[in-house]
Amino acid sequence: MDNSKIVTVTSPLLPSLDDFIPYLQDIWDRKWLTNNGHYHQELEKALCEYLKVPYISLFTNGTLPLMTALQALRITGEVITTPYSFVATTHSLWWNGIKPVFVDIDPITCNIDPEKIEAAITPRTTAIMPVHCYGQPCDMVKIKDIADKYGLKVIYDAAHAFGVEVGRKSVLEYGDMSTLSFHATKVYNTVEGGALICHDAETKERIDYLKNFGFAGETTVVAPGINGKMDEIRSAFGLLALKKVDEAILARKQIAELYHRNLENTEGIKILSDMENIRHNYAYFPIFVDSEKYGMTRDELYFKMKEHNIFSRRYFYPLISTFSTYKGLDSARQENLPVATRIADAVICLPMYAGLENGIVERIVDIIKTYD
Ligand SMILES: *Cc1c(COP(=O)(O)O)cnc(C)c1O
Repeated sequence: MDNSKIVTVTSPLLPSLDDFIPYLQDIWDRKWLTNNGHYHQELEKALCEYLKVPYISLFTNGTLPLMTALQALRITGEVITTPYSFVATTHSLWWNGIKPVFVDIDPITCNIDPEKIEAAITPRTTAIMPVHCYGQPCDMVKIKDIADKYGLKVIYDAAHAFGVEVGRKSVLEYGDMSTLSFHATKVYNTVEGGALICHDAETKERIDYLKNFGFAGETTVVAPGINGKMDEIRSAFGLLALKKVDEAILARKQIAELYHRNLENTEGIKILSDMENIRHNYAYFPIFVDSEKYGMTRDELYFKMKEHNIFSRRYFYPLISTFSTYKGLDSARQENLPVATRIADAVICLPMYAGLENGIVERIVDIIKTYD
């Protein structure tokens, strides 16, 4: 085993180049590069089928669907969200002139704690934007109850939850809308890309206008839209990548199980517990370091792994609420977010991707279990 080999936290799912070349040839022949082309339409169809949803709109990344969902639902005022996510979640609110209101997370799932949502609702609250963190489904039933009670919309940032099902039902069926990211680092990718999932044809039409400058016809602009369109090259890439994603998820599952078996009884290291009745996608493998019990801080372990050429990542640290744009908000105070603060200070996401060799997983586990 070559211990000097650099191990990154992720590695992209790539279709075979030989398979991709005929698709490129066809795109060259068609001379249609973007604006709802052949491969764009094919990918929307294929994803609807794979994800078991009736309507999907492709985007050029996973941030624009968040911003567009807020536009499509005409969200204003305040939106309740989690500080424990990738910054894009909160940024999408800010770009829409919406005030984010941070609510603490549940220590078991790392998702927004539904028990704490009601206390954060004000007369200006219009929506909830939860995240299925690490692909672990939120408590969607409780969130719906609260949303219904107060007349709030729900937009799920499902960037981590590609293919995740609860009791054979896609998580994307919940909420008013859900968004996906197909960034290179995600379980399924189109290099850069994303999607917005809604539940009726009329809303899909509106989203499709919004992602194309608001054009509803050659000379009609019905809304202040943006350019969020996915192109033909990446759509074709996505069609090919989709054929490999089940195999990739299975490979991730085996790696997750290997980590799990090796780490579950390690003093001072906590791992997420399996949720029942879930088809998981094994997007991430986070561990949580209890420095007192482990005898080393999270950062000490993180930098020690780096010295061994293991490039894990501290997802999500720092909390979004600590960044300069947001730290002045009342809800961003650390006292309001004790669980998220503790988890952000403890987390390390270990390398996780299809193709990660068992020997490397064992090398990583050895580093974690060697206390020096
Ligand atoms: C990756 C990610 C996004 C943003 O997606 P991009 O495709 O990078 O724009 C949004 N939210 C979460 C939780 C993410 O992990």
